[in-house]
Formats: sequence, C-alpha cells, structure tokens
Amino acid sequence: MNFLSKRAQAIAPYTAGEQPADKQYVKLNTNENPYPPSPRATEVLRAFDAGALRLYPRPDADGLRAAIARAEGVEEGNVFCGNGSDEVLALSFPAFFDEEGKPACFADLTYSFYEVFAAFFGVKTHIVPLKADFSFDLAAMQTADCAGYYLCNPNAPTGIALPIETVENFVASVGERIVIADEAYMDFYGQSAVPLTKKYKNLLVVKTFSKSYSLAGIRCGYAVGDEALIGGLFRMKDCFNSYPVDAVAQAVCTAAVEDKDYRDKTAALVKRERARLREALLSLGFTVPESGANFLFAGRVKKSGGELYRALKEEGVLVRHWEKPILRDFLRITIGTPEQNDVLLAKLKQILK
Ligand code: PMP
Repeated sequence: MNFLSKRAQAIAPYTAGEQPADKQYVKLNTNENPYPPSPRATEVLRAFDAGALRLYPRPDADGLRAAIARAEGVEEGNVFCGNGSDEVLALSFPAFFDEEGKPACFADLTYSFYEVFAAFFGVKTHIVPLKADFSFDLAAMQTADCAGYYLCNPNAPTGIALPIETVENFVASVGERIVIADEAYMDFYGQSAVPLTKKYKNLLVVKTFSKSYSLAGIRCGYAVGDEALIGGLFRMKDCFNSYPVDAVAQAVCTAAVEDKDYRDKTAALVKRERARLREALLSLGFTVPESGANFLFAGRVKKSGGELYRALKEEGVLVRHWEKPILRDFLRITIGTPEQNDVLLAKLKQILK
C-alpha cells in the first residue's frame, strides 16, 4: 500500500545546502553571514520572557511589520511577514498564479526553489536561459507569454546584480504582469527596488533576515508591495498557517531591523572581503562574475567543480556545487571572515598545484 498522493510521489523536492555535523568545517556553502546578529537583537533574545511563549504570537506580526515599514519607508499595510522568505515566495505562487492560467517566467539559472514551488502549486513555468555571460535575457523575458516573473536580484547562484534603472525599465515595460523581485542578497549591493513599489502596483519585493541581518536560524522574511498584493499573500497565509512568525522571531527581528547601522557595517565588511576574494580567485585563473551578493560564483579552472568541491571538503572547507550542465564547472563560495577566506584560498592553491 502506498499512502502518498500522486503529487508527493512525483515531485522533486528542493535540496538545501548540507549542514554536516561530523566535524567543524569552514562553512562557505549556504550564504550565511559570518558575523553575529546585531547586539540589540542579541539583547532582546537574552531578555526574552519565556513565560510569554504560553500565548500564540501576533498572527500578522503587527509590531514587526510596523518596524519593517519604518525601516523601508512604506506603510505597515505594504508589508507581509513569513517564516523565512522561502515561505513568502511559496505563498506568492498560489496568490498570483492560476493553475490553468499563464506560466510564471524566470531564468534557467536562478534560485532553484522557484521551480519546486511552481511544481508544488501546479503553476506552469516559462524558463528563459541566461545569456552566455550569465546575465538575464530581459528582452526574451519581456516578450514571454506569461502571468508574471521571478527576478532574483542579485541573482543566485551567479551573484550578478541588475542596477535599479534596469529593474524599473523592466517593471514598467511589463505593467500588466506581476514582477516578484527576490532581494535576499540586496543589502550586499544596495539598489533595492522597494521605493519603486510606491510607483508600480505590479512590483512585489521579497527580502529576508537570513543574510544581511545574520538571522538565518530564526526563519523570517518579508514582502513589500502595494496593499492589493500584500492582501493576496495574507489570504494565502490564512489558508495555510495563522502564525508563521513565532514570538521570539518577531521580537528579535524587530530589534534587528531597527539597527540598520549594524547591518550596513557587517555588509560593508562582507563587501570588502568579496572584492579581495574575487581578485585572488581571478589570479588563480578562475572565471568569477562581478557579484552583488555575499557569495562568488567561480569556476572554469583545470579541475571540475565537483573535484574542487570534494577536495575542499576533504580539507575541511565546505562550498556549494551542483552536478548540472553549466553549473558543473563552477563553485558557489559564500564570503566568510578574512580568516576563513584565507583558509579557502590556501586550500585552493594547494589543490590546484
Ligand atoms: N531567495 C534566495 C535567492 C535565496 O538564496 C534564499 C536562501 N536559500 C532564499 C530566498 C530564502 O531565504 P530564507 O528562507 O532564509 O529567507
């Protein structure tokens, strides 16, 4: 007897980056921030009254949404919070796409969860290959017969970022279709499309506390957009989970988003290391597109990505590798602390000798 639904049997789930517990790795594989969260967030966590956990959290994360709205320069009604930006992105599929309707359009090389969400929610996809230099083929996307777009900016796993003017032109040119801009890594680039959400009712920007706020363990992300779009996300949330953001997360993320200075300070450290690491990888012969994210996409050396990944793991350094066409020759390397990056570089030099 097989009790699984046809969907559960057929679907290919997303595989998250490994989190091995066998030994201490220099962990550069899941784009976590190498620096701790804001001291203000840490203090709120330390002082949190466990007795308060007796009660359910605020279902709509009102206090946190108000703090995000202040930080983003929008109204609370323009903000939706979920259990990680993955959940926000997941809910966007049933909120904005019909199973029998036109497809969701995105690139072939982008955040691979979009494809899994689409399959899970029965939404058709229109996949547009990246250009040879790994940039988005925006002209081909514009003319796609679709209901809307997922535009990961900066893109994963390439790190390539689109300037705000390019995003605005794209959003304006497809005015009848929704554009969901996934800005998980935007604070490492600094040209968020959030201000454009006031002008364009078809733009939803999705962000996370996991990367620039160093809070991947707390699971909280959010969307900013026109109230009609935010209302759609709330409708889906309330069909699925009334309390996606727990009380601890609401308190800690409120403190974190109110400490933008700290976020910007650590992001600046990551950006400085990104430039240094890229130069070093280029001088080792790697092809490395310019990155706006907290990782580099590096490859095309005399060893395959898989060989490098395995040799590095053996040496205690974890990076991300995919055994897929195009990606096969590349590694995605999260920017670590200067010390971690030095270990990575030393091991790579040794492996490539
Ligand atoms: N978008 C992109 C492009 C990502 O790489 C990730 C992290 N895997 C996410 C969204 C989801 O992040 P989180 O659920 O931690 O907010």
